[in-house]
Amino acid sequence: MASVNENFLKLPESYLFSEIASRVNKYKEAHPDSKIIRMGIGDVTLPLPKAVTEALHKAVDDMASSSSFHGYGPEQGYAFLRETILKNDFTDRGISIEADDIFVSDGAKSDTGNIGDILGADNVIAVTDPVYPVYVDTNVMGGRAGELVDGKWSKIIYMSCTTANGFVPSLPTERPDVIYLCYPNNPTGTTLTRDQLKVWVDYAIENDSLIMFDAAYEAFITEESVPHSIYEIPGAEKCAIEFRSFSKTAGFTGLRCGYTVVPKTVTAKRSNGDRVSLNRLWNRRQCTKFNGTAYIIQRAAEAVYSQEGKAQVREMLNYYLDNARLMKQSLTAAGLEVFGGVNAPYLWMKTPDGISSWEFFDKLLNELNIVGTPGVGFGPSGEGYFRLTAFGDKDQTKVAMQRIRDWKIED
Ligand code: PLP
Repeated sequence: MASVNENFLKLPESYLFSEIASRVNKYKEAHPDSKIIRMGIGDVTLPLPKAVTEALHKAVDDMASSSSFHGYGPEQGYAFLRETILKNDFTDRGISIEADDIFVSDGAKSDTGNIGDILGADNVIAVTDPVYPVYVDTNVMGGRAGELVDGKWSKIIYMSCTTANGFVPSLPTERPDVIYLCYPNNPTGTTLTRDQLKVWVDYAIENDSLIMFDAAYEAFITEESVPHSIYEIPGAEKCAIEFRSFSKTAGFTGLRCGYTVVPKTVTAKRSNGDRVSLNRLWNRRQCTKFNGTAYIIQRAAEAVYSQEGKAQVREMLNYYLDNARLMKQSLTAAGLEVFGGVNAPYLWMKTPDGISSWEFFDKLLNELNIVGTPGVGFGPSGEGYFRLTAFGDKDQTKVAMQRIRDWKIED
């Protein structure tokens, strides 16, 4: 008889978004005329930039002619895209990685989830808390998490990020083998400066730890002191893998494209102590389990870097960042303590008077008809916090923020 991977059975049902939907539906049934504004979703709302749709159309035409038709492509991505990424995201920023360090994929969720395939089950994992849930859940699936006790997995090291440490995680007291860092951060919208990230790179080198650096929100960075890539930090090319995504950068959530950088200099050890290049293993993994991102989509991603593409993407990002700025001002004016929203599309706030994340969710829904995400859904240290996203329509965001500014927050 076939048996299952028991690790999957350890995972609790993902209850956050279904609970949100159920509370919103219940409210709507009771108040059918209410004008609910949703600010909980982490999905973009603007359509694709024109340069991208033009590239898509052209690529579709390529597929219609035998002289330009593309069947299976290279598993690692077409050279035209890898070279374009290399130049624009790295070489032009003074970072020296190579084109074959870059693996194009269908997005950062797949890659951050699949990367565990090449790691042993005995690795000790560290995550920031709150956290993008994919890092934790995929390590549960991989048998690296232990047991769930009071909301925490017994073998995972949780690095708490709260107002107490300004959302900058402290170095762990117990040495992890693998450290997941996501900056700009989802859900808190906070960042690490170059100096703060250097602390982690130095720690990883000194302790022979591997950093998984998720830079899915890199395009939202506005401040000079915030690094766009971990490879801006000397030594990171020896200890870090970086994940990037076109989803939030260029509206690709429905198209699906991202990439992962695994420098050939990053290694991990075998049981006999020998070092193995992770680039070689990831390449092997991708060639076996992945048949490449669609040609059409890779042409669309290439167009993000054209002159028109860059200008259109900038306009799109500014639209969301303008929302974020307005949200930050309005939430602050309402007396809330707000974080993020400067280099990220996420606003993270402390719930007033120490009420729980879910109590605040109900309050916002009932009193202002605004839907957000309870912070506790992202980890135990998210309790007492709440997330709003800046991905909404500008006019709707203005209406929501007027409601917030007029709000009398009472118990
Ligand atoms: N990483 C983080 C931190 C995210 O918040 C998200 C999506 O919300 C992803 C990765 C997934 O990106 P993609 O759409 O490329 O799979």
